[in-house]
Amino acid sequence: MTPSRDRPILGILSVISLIVLSYLLWAIPFKYEPSPAFYLVVVSVISAFNISILFGWLSMGKTVGIILAVISMLEVVFFDLRLGIEGYSMFVLPFFIASLIGYRLERIKNKLNQLLILRSEKLEEEMNVLSNSIKEKEASIASFEEKLRKYSKLEYVVESFSTVLSTDKISRLMIEESLKTIGKEGRALIFLVDTEKQELMLEASKNASGVKMKKGDVFDNWVLRHRKSLMVEDVVRDFRFPTDDIEESKAVFRSLIATPLVAENKVTGIIRIDNPKEFAYTQDDLRLLDIIADLGAVALQNAMLYSRIQELAIKDSLTGLAVRRYFMDRFQEEIKRTARKKGALSFMILDIDHFKKYNDKYGHMAGDLVLKYLARTVKSLIQEGDIAVRYGGEEIAILLCGRDKKSALKEAEIIRKTIEEKPFTLRRHVAKITVSIGISSYPEDAILEEDLIKIADGRLYKAKNAGRNKVC
Ligand code: GH3
Ligand code: MG
Ligand code: MG
Repeated sequence: MTPSRDRPILGILSVISLIVLSYLLWAIPFKYEPSPAFYLVVVSVISAFNISILFGWLSMGKTVGIILAVISMLEVVFFDLRLGIEGYSMFVLPFFIASLIGYRLERIKNKLNQLLILRSEKLEEEMNVLSNSIKEKEASIASFEEKLRKYSKLEYVVESFSTVLSTDKISRLMIEESLKTIGKEGRALIFLVDTEKQELMLEASKNASGVKMKKGDVFDNWVLRHRKSLMVEDVVRDFRFPTDDIEESKAVFRSLIATPLVAENKVTGIIRIDNPKEFAYTQDDLRLLDIIADLGAVALQNAMLYSRIQELAIKDSLTGLAVRRYFMDRFQEEIKRTARKKGALSFMILDIDHFKKYNDKYGHMAGDLVLKYLARTVKSLIQEGDIAVRYGGEEIAILLCGRDKKSALKEAEIIRKTIEEKPFTLRRHVAKITVSIGISSYPEDAILEEDLIKIADGRLYKAKNAGRNKVC
């Protein structure tokens, strides 16, 4: 609200009325008559002058007020002189009073204006404060919505973790989901702890082609050592890490968050996200990473246990070879596949010669070591794709996929000869064993696995009868 809005109209009115009054005073040939009409005119003119002075004062201020008052006085004095009736000059007195009232009223008006300005300024300030607080509230609502959106994504993460049972897939999932949930560009890396060497090994990564630090850098190892989360806002300015250690890495990333994967109170790995920009992550981001790491660590642990159980189920604990049940399933599958491809497949059974005697002489424990040694040797001699199995007590069977009898015979001969010629040290004395081997081939000898096994078994028996240490 501005006080000058009414100024032009009132000011112009008062100036115009003064001009009109002056004109009338000079133009009309008044004559003094002591009649009521004359007095009425005089009173009206004086009142008009007063009103004009008052309005002029109020609307245009002190200077115009004084000028109007002076002009009005001069007009009256000259009018008085023109009529030649002294005493009418006394009529200038009301002008003084009008000026005084104008002066007072103007001061009051100015004070009121100032008060109004103050009030409006205060109101404006309050409005600013209010609109700022509205903006802040809106921002905090937006940030809550953002958080809610992120946290609701976690539900999906939990579901995915519970359906996957391979460490590889869980690591990939953790990386994908943490980048997606945190929603910022950057690299993501997962390291798992090598329990034997007690050091980190890179398991999976994203946006990190050609990562040099396969065993983690100073930051990852800090997390491993301290067993707690780490947030570095700017690697160059973080006093915890000496600048020599980060000389190379600062070109790739400037800020990072990392957190340990803890399962059953043991650190099993580390997940870490970094960014080429400094101050890229907030405490909220780290909290999200913590949650994903906690969920992922349990999922990883489960996956590891599952694969261990699976391994135990198909692997013989003494020799590390496959167990017979697993082998029989594979045998069937391989025969079907070979039939489809119209290819060949061979089967061999290998049995240690006079193993009972060996056991009797050196004891059962020593016999176990021989079995271990034999399994190791066989594994090192068979080709990729062949499946070796602990078939019976001291019998090893081998499935030679895609290989005909000739090729199988050649391999059997190599195995027999290597074992015959390669003595091994057992309890500080050198021992030697020999093996007999029976072979059968698909489709040459038979097309059903039970027939193939029977034939190979028969040939093994033949090899034994023929004096042992033979391939039949
Ligand atoms: P052959 O030359 O006819 O094969 O004579 P052999 O004494 O090896 O006879 P056979 O193949 O029937 O041997 C079975 C023996 O293998 C019986 C047992 O003493 C030994 N054996 C079977 N399983 C194990 C095992 O897990 N550990 C040990 N140490 N010995 C085993
Ligand atoms: Mg046997
Ligand atoms: Mg034997």
